[in-house]
Amino acid sequence: MQYDKNNIFAKILRGEIQCNKVYEDDFCLAFNDLHPTAPIHVLVIPKGQYKSFDDFCLNGSQNEISGFFKGVTGTLEILGLVGDNKDGYRLITNCGVHGDQTVHHFHIHILAGTKLGSIVTHSCVVLHCRLHGDQTVHHFHIHILAGTKAR
Ligand code: 5GP
Repeated sequence: MQYDKNNIFAKILRGEIQCNKVYEDDFCLAFNDLHPTAPIHVLVIPKGQYKSFDDFCLNGSQNEISGFFKGVTGTLEILGLVGDNKDGYRLITNCGVHGDQTVHHFHIHILAGTKLGSIVTHSCVVLHCRLHGDQTVHHFHIHILAGTKAR
């Protein structure tokens, strides 16, 4: 599948659709999700045209990749979520049919603001952090969930 230049997030990047911006730099744009599933629900997207996590990580430049993930961290800081004394968050990125991806421009969901126990099943790649993210093993890890439609 080719990258669709008319997907919603491409239109947001071009300023054709409004968003409630949280953070922006040369590599990423972060904005509130239109239909939040947690008290804090922010989407972070790269500025480049990438369809999914694997498309971005395989085909993005080192600058784009490191710049994007620094932007995700910068967004977490703006949201007040960074620090060992904070309650934590969850990052999710959905990929393809089984991941129930609905917008085909790579994006990471930042979920936070409450304990997120039940908000996990519709995810393909999940990262939990601290209490609200229900992290149980405190060595950074990513869950890759696949093999069936998740919701
Ligand atoms: P996906 O299901 O692809 O992982 O996530 C797409 C997300 O984009 C959904 O959580 C959905 O609520 C959000 N979304 C869809 N259209 C818009 C929009 O026009 N503006 C914003 N801010 N979010 C949107």
